[in-house]
This record gives sequence, C-alpha cells and structure tokens, in this order.
Amino acid sequence: MKKIQDCLRERILVIDGAMGTMIQRHKLTEADYRGERFKDWPSDLKGNNDLLSITQPHIIEGIHKEYLEAGADIIETNTFSSTVIAQADYGLQSIAYELNVASAKCARNAIDKFLTSPPTPLQGRGASPRFVAGAIGPLNKTLSLSPDVNNPGYRAVTFDEVVAAYYEQVSGLVDGGVDILLVETIFDTLNAKAAIFAIKKYFRDTKHEELPVMISGTITDASGRTLSGQTLEAFYTSIMHAKPLSVGLNCALGAAEMRSHIEELSTIAGCYTSAYPNAGLPNAMGEYDEHPHQTAGFIEEWARQGFVNIVGGCCGTTPDHIKHIADAVKNFQPRELPVVETELA
Ligand SMILES: [Zn+2]
Repeated sequence: MKKIQDCLRERILVIDGAMGTMIQRHKLTEADYRGERFKDWPSDLKGNNDLLSITQPHIIEGIHKEYLEAGADIIETNTFSSTVIAQADYGLQSIAYELNVASAKCARNAIDKFLTSPPTPLQGRGASPRFVAGAIGPLNKTLSLSPDVNNPGYRAVTFDEVVAAYYEQVSGLVDGGVDILLVETIFDTLNAKAAIFAIKKYFRDTKHEELPVMISGTITDASGRTLSGQTLEAFYTSIMHAKPLSVGLNCALGAAEMRSHIEELSTIAGCYTSAYPNAGLPNAMGEYDEHPHQTAGFIEEWARQGFVNIVGGCCGTTPDHIKHIADAVKNFQPRELPVVETELA
C-alpha cells in the first residue's frame, strides 16, 4: 500500500470531522451507552462516547463510513478519552486498553468495507488508500497547571502517571491496527510531551516499526497562546524533537481566528502542517452554526496560499463540512516542505 508520506507529496489530504456531533444525532439513551455488557454498571455511562466502540460498534463504524464517503483520507479513532485517567470519571479504568483496540478496529473495518464496496458518486478518489489515525486526547488533568487556585504547586497527576496512561493507550491503538498516532487538541504542552515520550518508549520497548506521529495543538485565546501559556513558535520548538509527520492546530476558535496562526506555522514548520478547526465559535447553546461552505471557504484560501498539507474539521463539523472541504482543496497543490538550512557552528 502507498504510504501516507507518498500521498502527502502529491496532494492535500483530508482528515474527518467531529465524532461527538455525529453521535449526538443518534440521540442515544443511558441504556444504549451501557449495552448488554454494562447494563448493571454502578455509575452513569451516558456521555462516555468512547465506550460506544464496544457497546454500539455499528454506530461508530457507520459514522466513519459517512466521513469516508464524504472524502476523508484519514479517519480518527473514537478514543479521545480512552485512557485510564479519563475513564476514571466512569470507573472504567480497567477497559482503557480494550477501548483503544475496539475503536481502532471500528475504523479499520469501516475502511475495509468502504474500499471493497462499489463506488458511489461521492467517492471521487477511487481506491487511493485511507488511513486510521489513533486519536490521543489531552486528558482531563494537566501537568502544567494546578486545579487548586489556593495551591499553585499542586498537580492532580504526575508525569509518570500520564506517561503510563498514554503508553497503555498507544499499545491498544497499535494492536488494533492504526496507521498513524495523532496527539491532538493539546492545550498543555507538558501533557503532549508525556504522550510523545510514551510513544517513543513504546516503539523502543516493543521494537515494532515506528508509526508516523501527527501533533496538533489548540489555541484558546485571541493572543495566540495555548492554555499553558506558550506562543505557537514556542509550542513548535517544544515538540519538534519528536520528528512528527505533521504539526498543526485543531479545535478551539474556528477557522476565521485560526488563519494567522496557520500562516505562521506554515513558515516555521519543517514538517507537514495540518489544520482542522471547529465549525466556527459555539453559540449560546454550545452549538456550532458555521455552514459547510463557510468552513470550506476559509480552508480553500489556506490551500491557495500554500499553508497546509492536511485539512479537515473538529467540533461541530459533519460529513457535509468534510465533503465541502475535500472539494475546495482538491485542485490545489500541497504546501511544499521548506528546505531547512543546517547551521554552521
Ligand atoms: Zn474540537
């Protein structure tokens, strides 16, 4: 199979849109989340979207399939919170590894079925490969910031605990058959560094062939800083040692606010760049109103300017957004990797 590196040299690749938005459309009940296996579980499970990969795999597979049909080259596993740390909210720490394997398989199955089924009119790209990115979320606990305003030195979790949680997640994702590891929605660079450390350690320990790593941060305020206070350039400098396949931005402020940051990133990144914004800013109800043609309009301009190599959508985006984005970028050349000068020292 053609490698993702080969595809990235040829064209702008499209990553899928929001999983959560699509799950909401199914209006699932507590009983749906529990399925047969967890019907007597002592705490509420509704809202634990990652669990659906075990209890309702056909729904997750169906969502992946919709994104593939819309034109996504890369689909993300339903594993944003599949770590022992995040699953503690539901008392489900013991199934963290299993969640990752199950979600990777849902994505893998969706691609296998998609590529072997007869082409639909929406499927413009024939049998070009599709890739599964194992989604590694930021965690609900941060290493750089104290959750207790009266005790700034306090941390809810240690670096070693975060590494162990990510290590288990990576092993589940790789065992489930992902092609790429995607550390995403990074608001705390130290958490991301723990994820990178866990990934490198996993491949060193297992001697498994290293998978490409995509890294995507999120900017949470208009001044262009991450929540842990770094500028974009500082963030890039902090993670470039990982030699990622791509670095980029996702989520947060939407495409309009993201533009200047993507432009800046395109000038400093020695690797490929990615951008998958939310469908605008959420309204008072927490819903996203930006229409597919609007989101695609912003991203088309980034493609025309040569800022991007991988584009797609985050919160609030749907298969319709992804279809518009895929159509908007298909005739533009991908951003060329800059020639990085070697310092004479
Ligand atoms: Zn998002």
